[in-house]
Formats: sequence, C-alpha cells, structure tokens
Amino acid sequence: MSQGSNDLLIVGTGPAGMTAALYARRLGLNPVVFGDVPGGNLYMIEKINNFPGFMDGVAGTEFGIRLFQQAQIDGAQFTMSRIEKLGYENSLFHCTDSNGLSYTAPAAIMATGRVPVGLSVENSNLKGIHFCSICDGPLYRNKNATLAVIGSTNAAAQHALTLSKIAEKVYLIYRSVRPQMDASHQGLLAGHKNVEIRPGTEVIGYKGLHLIEGLIVRPNNGQTDEIGVDGVFPAIGWQPNTQYLDFPVRMTPDRYLQTDSSLMTSVPGLFAAGDVRDTDLSQVLTACADGARAAKYAAAFLNKHS
Ligand SMILES: Cc1cc2nc3c(=O)[nH]c(=O)nc-3n(C[C@H](O)[C@H](O)[C@H](O)COP(=O)(O)OP(=O)(O)OC[C@H]3O[C@@H](n4cnc5c(N)ncnc54)[C@H](O)[C@@H]3O)c2cc1C
Repeated sequence: MSQGSNDLLIVGTGPAGMTAALYARRLGLNPVVFGDVPGGNLYMIEKINNFPGFMDGVAGTEFGIRLFQQAQIDGAQFTMSRIEKLGYENSLFHCTDSNGLSYTAPAAIMATGRVPVGLSVENSNLKGIHFCSICDGPLYRNKNATLAVIGSTNAAAQHALTLSKIAEKVYLIYRSVRPQMDASHQGLLAGHKNVEIRPGTEVIGYKGLHLIEGLIVRPNNGQTDEIGVDGVFPAIGWQPNTQYLDFPVRMTPDRYLQTDSSLMTSVPGLFAAGDVRDTDLSQVLTACADGARAAKYAAAFLNKHS
C-alpha cells in the first residue's frame, strides 16, 4: 500500500532524526520518520553529563523519550518501523518499511547512526560478549562478577563506570598507551577503586566453551597472559548504518556519508545528519545540531525544486 503526501523521509529516531523531525515540522514540512528505537543510541547512556543546560545530567532514555514526545506533539509522523532499502528514481526517494507500507518523497534525511563492532579474534561467538552495559550489565548484579571493557574512548569509560556499580571488579583494557577519552572521564574513573585500567594491552583472544571465561591478552612490553572474566563489553569501533542505501552515494572508505556545507550528500535532495555522516564529533549535541541544519537545508531544497 502506498502512503502519500510526505515531502520528506527521515530515517532514524536517534537525536539527529528526531531533531530533524521537530525542525522540519516547524518549517512547515510534512515528514515521515522511520526507526523502531526512539532515542537511538541514547538508551546506552546512563547519564548524559555534557549536554548544555542539564547541570545534573540527564538519563539517556529520558532525553530520548522527551525528544520523541516533542516531535510527536509538533505533528511529526512516526512509523515505528525500519526500512531495508532506500531507492532513488526520477528525483524521488522511495522505500517500503517493515510494516509493508510504501513511501516516496523528493527529499530525505539519513540519520541512522552507527553500531558498535566486535573484536575479530578467536571465540568471538561465545556467550557473555555484550555491547550495551546499561542493557546487559544488570545480568551480572549480585554475582560478584569480574567484567572487562575493551577500549579507551569516552564510550568505553561510560561502560566501565556503569559496570563498576554492578560488578565486583571491572578491567578497562586498551591497546594504546594513552586513552582517547577526555579528562573528565579519566577523573570519574579514578574515583572507582574497583576499576583496574590496563593500558598498552591488546586482547588477542577470548577463552571459554559456551560462556566466556577469560581474555587472552598481550601487553606491549610483556608476555601473553590470561585474565579471568564473566563478561566482556568491547567498545573498540563502529560501523555506520548505510547498508540500506540502494543507489550510489559518496562515502568515506569506512562507509560514512560525505556531505557538503549544507549537509547534502552527493545525491541532490539526500541529506545526512549525526553519527552516520563523516563528522568530526559524534555526540548527542552535534547530532541534534546536524538534525536541525539538515531539516533547514532540506526545506530550502524543497522550496527551490517545487
Ligand atoms: C555507551 C555510550 C555512551 C555515550 N555517551 C555519550 C555522552 O555522554 N554524551 C554524548 O553527547 N554522546 C554520548 N554518546 C554518543 C551518542 O549516543 C551519539 O553520538 C548519538 O546517539 C548519535 O545520534 P544519531 O541520531 O546520529 O544516531 P543514533 O543515536 O545511533 O540513532 C540512529 C537511529 O537510526 C535507526 N536506524 C538505523 N538503521 C535504520 C533503518 N534501516 N531503518 C530505520 N531506522 C534505522 C536506529 O535504530 C537508531 O534509532 C555515547 C554513546 C555510547 C554508545
């Protein structure tokens, strides 16, 4: 069944997509928003401490729900579905969503974010390997668990902080000598005595039969060793969600969407916002800002081409 009357398709219900929806409505557009997780990656953030105006921080889930409600109140249409493919023909974008409904529009904003990738080492299919500490950390509550986070970024630090309240002991292990996280995260970690940081250490394998039992690690200046763990949370890298684009569009070698100064991709009328684009700062604030700007430039595009 084909749905009509939308002038803008927005793919993604993270902070970028929902802010794009809010601004698009205020600019008089009629967007339809695809995505089945309101808030996107916000559900993985226990507390956002760096969003201006929230001095005491705000839970990621709460912020996501507020964005969702605000865009809904302003009249944005949410399908609560995903799309497998986005096509482009005769200057129109078209897709069929997971509810089997078809949509077309002359402009589209890609705000599909990115997902964490796992470590490609032996036994990487064992149970006990997780990517979301808020969602899966509680599995280890009251079990005197030893957990490990692999990575040195702010996201890795956030996982370690969340798990430090649940586990007996948390290892934070990373290959580089210096961490990539900012000073405030380093300060927060220093306050948690059950977090042991192992810099300059590479995880070269997982051990276990069905469940993970340990990590095989190789320190830069030492011999291969083992660390016993009950669960591990890799935070070592990302993969942008761009696989659904069914036509040629300019991307970086690691498949982030490249945009011009108005956030338009190499395809006229196709805009990108947030973590899915080749941005220099992947944060909630910049995702929201991108969403607002992409909506503004999509409206200008539609004005010019109508
Ligand atoms: C553990 C962790 C801690 C973090 N801490 C902070 C922090 O403290 N402060 C901060 O500013 N940032 C933090 N971040 C980063 C922040 O979460 C991201 O920068 C932000 O969520 C990016 O927003 P986005 O809208 O671009 O993408 P996302 O939030 O990833 O949303 C993308 C959305 O697109 C949807 N989608 C994907 N493919 C499809 C499809 N085919 N069809 C329909 N929908 C689709 C997804 O389901 C999702 O809803 C953290 C991230 C993590 C993982």
